[in-house]
Amino acid sequence: MSNRKIVLASRNKKKTQEVAELLAAVGFLVVPVTDFPEVPEVEEDGDTFAANAAKKATEVAIALGQWVIGEDSGLKVDALNGAPGIYSARYSGEHATDDSNNAKLIADLANVAEDKRGAGYVCSIALSSPTGEVKVTAEGTCRGRILTTASGSGGFGYDPYFLIPEYHRTFGDLSPLVKRKLSHRARAFALFIPQLLRIADEF
Ligand code: IMP
Repeated sequence: MSNRKIVLASRNKKKTQEVAELLAAVGFLVVPVTDFPEVPEVEEDGDTFAANAAKKATEVAIALGQWVIGEDSGLKVDALNGAPGIYSARYSGEHATDDSNNAKLIADLANVAEDKRGAGYVCSIALSSPTGEVKVTAEGTCRGRILTTASGSGGFGYDPYFLIPEYHRTFGDLSPLVKRKLSHRARAFALFIPQLLRIADEF
């Protein structure tokens, strides 16, 4: 199969890069929605990662008349009852940055002992046909622990604080190659790709 094109409904460059690498391996070329400035931003007002992923996919697919992947992801922290969850990107407010979100996370966990700092990343994906029909969905999770100090500068978002206990390293320390095998996104795409390939002839 050679380079079928698929649009990713995300404006996050690092996330887009990760998805592009996962799909390049099976012959899909990922085009970011930012290549189409005429497409309006999707309001993420769903109650779940899955609802937001489907909303991003279908709204952008209908706007463009193309196959579109919607991806919604975030961090659920046990000691915060699953927060920030679907609000991960805007945890510290409307103009949140990775740094301000991480500062809030660390402050909110200030009195939480090491063995109670468990957390899970979640990634939900939906594929929409050009007419806005959801054809494939998948979800992956990755468990870890939130450190008190950052380590490494790889990845994005909460990665420098997210320890993978088996590796004694954060996603900030680990190479993109390792994150591509272990992450919530990798796990979601491992479930998604066989289903995508099954309908690839419709592209
Ligand atoms: P979304 O773009 O609305 O799905 O928001 C995703 C947010 O969740 C990001 O801005 C990060 O804060 C967080 N997040 C999701 N996936 C990752 C990851 O792989 N590493 C670090 N943070 C992530």
